[in-house]
Amino acid sequence: MTTTYLMSFLEGYIFEDIKNPVMRNGKPVGLLFDGGHGLRQFTKGKCSPEGLVYEGEWNREMVARLIPDARAIGFDARVLVPEDEDINIGTRAARANKIKSEEPDKLWYYISIHLNAANEKDCDKYGWCKPATGIVAYTCQTPKYKTAKDMEEGRALAKTFVTLGRGDFELAGNRSLPKVGYWQADFTVLYKSKMPAILTENLFMTNRDEVAFLTSEKGKETIASLHIAALCKHFGIPYAHIKA
Ligand SMILES: [Zn+2]
Repeated sequence: MTTTYLMSFLEGYIFEDIKNPVMRNGKPVGLLFDGGHGLRQFTKGKCSPEGLVYEGEWNREMVARLIPDARAIGFDARVLVPEDEDINIGTRAARANKIKSEEPDKLWYYISIHLNAANEKDCDKYGWCKPATGIVAYTCQTPKYKTAKDMEEGRALAKTFVTLGRGDFELAGNRSLPKVGYWQADFTVLYKSKMPAILTENLFMTNRDEVAFLTSEKGKETIASLHIAALCKHFGIPYAHIKA
């Protein structure tokens, strides 16, 4: 049986039932992790200069790191996009909404994982851009498909991620923080998912130093810890980064 790139990182991992679920408003919490884009053969661009990191691949590896940790803590964490292909963003949101409608007894959250990139015009002839650094987290702007509570939860989770990332994790870079403490944009997966949703941009693949960090074990471990720490803080449980 062939496995996908993402699932190869989870090889040997068994999705057991969640024994002590994290609860919110009387419901167990489910997390839908979405690694943005596709593998290099499916997604044009979306890579660092010299091909040092391909975003769709890094995003998938990060999702695979987060799943065992999040499940060990008590989140019903799922891989929303196990495929290698670049699944359409509307399809991704629809997939999340289907899970929510099929399992309404759980409180679902959408977490999309990405890397950032500077605008081409700001980059040198090789594609590098030294000045653009730091982490960012978005939540959606327009509550067309979300309840007021979903919006509030998405904002709070994004803010916690950003606060921790810029604080304890020292990953502010040179991003100037919006007054509200998080970023907002109607990206399709944020906008169309009928649940609290955030999208994390985990440093810049156009910055040489950040690429070196992102491709190191320490860097991957740090970014994974930041996600887990933010989730723990948001749901009021002691921070427990459990290494798989
Ligand atoms: Zn992306």
